Amino acid sequence: MRGVVESSGDARAGTGAMAERHPAIAVTRLVVSPLAANCYLLCCRATGDLIVVDAGDDAPRILWTIDKLTGNHRERVRLIVNTHGHADHTAAVAELRAPGALGPAPVLMHPADGAVVAGNAADARRYLGRDYTPVPPDRPLREGDEVRFGECALRVIETPGHSPGGICLYGHGLVLTGDSLFRRGVGRWDFFKGDRDALLGSIRDKVLTLPPDTVAYPGHGEATTLGEERAENPYFQDED
Ligand SMILES: [Zn+2]
Ligand SMILES: [Zn+2]
Repeated sequence: MRGVVESSGDARAGTGAMAERHPAIAVTRLVVSPLAANCYLLCCRATGDLIVVDAGDDAPRILWTIDKLTGNHRERVRLIVNTHGHADHTAAVAELRAPGALGPAPVLMHPADGAVVAGNAADARRYLGRDYTPVPPDRPLREGDEVRFGECALRVIETPGHSPGGICLYGHGLVLTGDSLFRRGVGRWDFFKGDRDALLGSIRDKVLTLPPDTVAYPGHGEATTLGEERAENPYFQDED
């Protein structure tokens, strides 16, 4: 881990928001949904513009944290980004987009997960105990696209295999890895259209080749660095 870790002590929620500051971006993590998915709020430190990544559940708490980070200027939220379409990463998107919430912030996702989002209702009931309103993306994200907010830009890296449209977002010394790469693990490949070889291959060839001090923020669990994962992640130990 790099940088300063601090707890903002959100006493109303069982799990507090955790924040980490990088030179260009401040990262706030909220653990949401019964599946303990990470929702990230990324703030451009130069301008105060924000993006929401993986709004998986607990919309009121996400909005409360946004209000706290922005001084009640929710309009600073520029984009809602889904690293992939699974319900535990997207179930709160409809509530964030509702009138009186975030307004028209565009939703960005890889188009290959459109069918995943459309088919989430049963999984959301079973695993999250809630209804699910699919929100189709307003803009597609594909390999090499940039997610821009304020003076920050994160590059899209396609890492299919956990789901067909899984992506990572890389830039400014950090990478958000969704459910593709975890600390000492990788995402499951036994879901709809999962693909073990695609998952491991894309992480090995396109993510673990990034600078080793890059801080990786996964879709579940604690952050890590790519150097640590190259050295310690059991799925990649036969590659050297
Ligand atoms: Zn997933
Ligand atoms: Zn997940």
